[in-house]
Amino acid sequence: MGQPPDAARRRVAVLGSTGSIGRQALEVLAAHPDRFELVALAAGRNQALLEEQVAQLRPARSVLAGDEAAPLVEIAAADDVDLVIVATGGLVSLRAVLAALAAGKVVATANKETLVAGGHLVMPLARALADARRPVGVSSSAADALAWLRPIDSEHSAIWQCLVGEPARAVERLILTASGGPFRTASPAELAAVTVAQALRHPTWQMGAKITIDSATLANKGLEVIEAHWLYDVGYDAIEVVIHPQSVVHSAVRFVDGSLKAQLGTPDMRLPIQYALTYPERAPSPAAPADLLAARRLDFEAPDEARFPALRVAREAALAGPWATAALICADEVAVARFLAGSLTFDGIPRLLEAAVNRYARFDVSPPDVDQLGELDADVRATFATLPLGAVS
Ligand code: MG
Repeated sequence: MGQPPDAARRRVAVLGSTGSIGRQALEVLAAHPDRFELVALAAGRNQALLEEQVAQLRPARSVLAGDEAAPLVEIAAADDVDLVIVATGGLVSLRAVLAALAAGKVVATANKETLVAGGHLVMPLARALADARRPVGVSSSAADALAWLRPIDSEHSAIWQCLVGEPARAVERLILTASGGPFRTASPAELAAVTVAQALRHPTWQMGAKITIDSATLANKGLEVIEAHWLYDVGYDAIEVVIHPQSVVHSAVRFVDGSLKAQLGTPDMRLPIQYALTYPERAPSPAAPADLLAARRLDFEAPDEARFPALRVAREAALAGPWATAALICADEVAVARFLAGSLTFDGIPRLLEAAVNRYARFDVSPPDVDQLGELDADVRATFATLPLGAVS
């Protein structure tokens, strides 16, 4: 209910088309030419691949945006676009998301900054769209705003799929699963000596470098707790993280009657991408179907926040508010880049995150607006990009 009008063929823009999610989104779109028409592509820096995509897919518009937000805003709010896929990293697409929602377009996002740093700006727009389009006499459901701001992240897609048709008051708890990454059983000494090559070897998912490192530190799961809070309007004490090494259960929701609904699937991002595009319908997908007999067993364990302090730091940032969570995600980009470049150890990542959260948490002022988020991002980079490891404590 309160869903966007159903166009015969959705006109789609892809922001961040050359990254891992962007490329898979183009695959999904190409597999359903009856449902989608690609009208615009935007990439950051990969000119060669963008040119290749333009030559092959012939969108009406394309742009190599670099760090500029304005070209993304223009594409996202264009009259001939119904649905915007946001597959960029960083804060650069936040203005585009706000502009798209303000123009009444559907946004499918894989971008974490949109929610972790900008949740307080983005979600009111999505909820207003849902409220405005809900037919008279129809009561609201927990998933209404998700018709407008659609999560691509596999865990949030799973929770969304569990919430469809459920009233918000029926939700008791969200359960985010995490694979635990390649160092799930590593000792603190082993964690201190982790190399880049080891951290890039994720056991279950094939993803970009940034999110693979984030999965190894569990910073990714910490950011996802914050995303879940904004998407589903659920308090932090009702969002639980459970380690599930097989990555078959993508996440779950427990309801007030004690029932638990989970969504299961093969670890293949084309599935949540496609659901975000075809919702409320489902369509055949190239992903291998979920198979309980092949999975054989599904294990679950509690996360160890002593060995993976990034999860604790993220929860502390969440409770400290929007300035702290924005600092957390900006600092994480710096920390991961430094780890990949060899100027920060693996166990230095959570220490850098904690230092940033402590430095930028502000309780005395209103949440950051878009300009202030940009300034905060620049300040976090200037402060932490070259700080010697010894000073990060
Ligand atoms: Mg995820």
